[in-house]
Amino acid sequence: MTSTSWPRPSSITATVDFSAEGIQHGFLKLPVSVDESAWGALMIPITVVARGEGPTALLTAGIHGDEYEGITALHKLANALQPEQVEGRVIIVPMANLPAAMAGQRTSPIDKGNLNRSFPGNPDGSVTEQIADYINRVLIPKCDYALDCHSGGKTLDILPFAAFHGLDNELQERACLAAALNFSAPYVLKMVELDATRLYDSAVERQGKIFVTTELGGGGTSTPLSVGITERGITNFLIHCGILEGEPLASAQPPICLEMPSSDCYVQSEHSGLLELTVALGDHVNAGQVTARIYDMTRTGAEPVEYRARSAGIVMARRFPAQVGMGDTIVVIANEVASLERA
Ligand code: ZN
Repeated sequence: MTSTSWPRPSSITATVDFSAEGIQHGFLKLPVSVDESAWGALMIPITVVARGEGPTALLTAGIHGDEYEGITALHKLANALQPEQVEGRVIIVPMANLPAAMAGQRTSPIDKGNLNRSFPGNPDGSVTEQIADYINRVLIPKCDYALDCHSGGKTLDILPFAAFHGLDNELQERACLAAALNFSAPYVLKMVELDATRLYDSAVERQGKIFVTTELGGGGTSTPLSVGITERGITNFLIHCGILEGEPLASAQPPICLEMPSSDCYVQSEHSGLLELTVALGDHVNAGQVTARIYDMTRTGAEPVEYRARSAGIVMARRFPAQVGMGDTIVVIANEVASLERA
């Protein structure tokens, strides 16, 4: 007799034993039946490193497949981390949306799923929704702390920052801020999302975990600097959790605190054409300052459309490709503030 209870258990099975000590490199296996493999499975790499009593940290990247700073840093960590270094457990998933990562794309080529818009997921849904459901019901409940590594991917370049969200639970928000500060990226941001309802972030925060998200560069590549910031931040996060010994490694300068007063700080295009950015990442801009011009690519002799900053602040993100379409984010302007503690 089959159970009719819902939600049913995930179809994903792990080849690692989450309760075992030591180091295990394995897979999250999701059955898929496709032209190339009738009885096949999607094999999402996972590493678990555990020793003794202590907290669990869940480290993820590749929720978007073209964001290489976190994917690279977590691959390196999975290869390097040894059980004798940890007190507790580290679960590492460098390419959470594996089909997207293999394709070098933000979303999955199987179902066009954006894993960070698919939570809480669905065990009977698309491949991407099934991955989200497994993370939501199996991985998140195992952790005390979660760190998710993002960057701008092919279409954005973003100042390297660790971020947290304003939460109803003030204690949880303070704990997330403390962890974000200790990540020691050049910037720390209190983030306002364009749409938080289906994010991984919201799923983790709803379960009461201490959560840090990041944006660590972009352009669909990585640099020695961006990977270095990411690796230092991950080490610092594990020290902050009490899983690695030591003191967090500080950056040369204390982090600059940024906040996004409203979704107004996203400047989005109402034209398509050739994009000329007149400001660079990290620049201070004044309200009304021209941040970009968009040229009509179908003709010469037409004046470009100018886009101005609605408020003063720091350019924290920019569109990466030089062509822009309707609705694309051109720049994001954040406010520099002295502290991100609640008043
Ligand atoms: Zn991302």
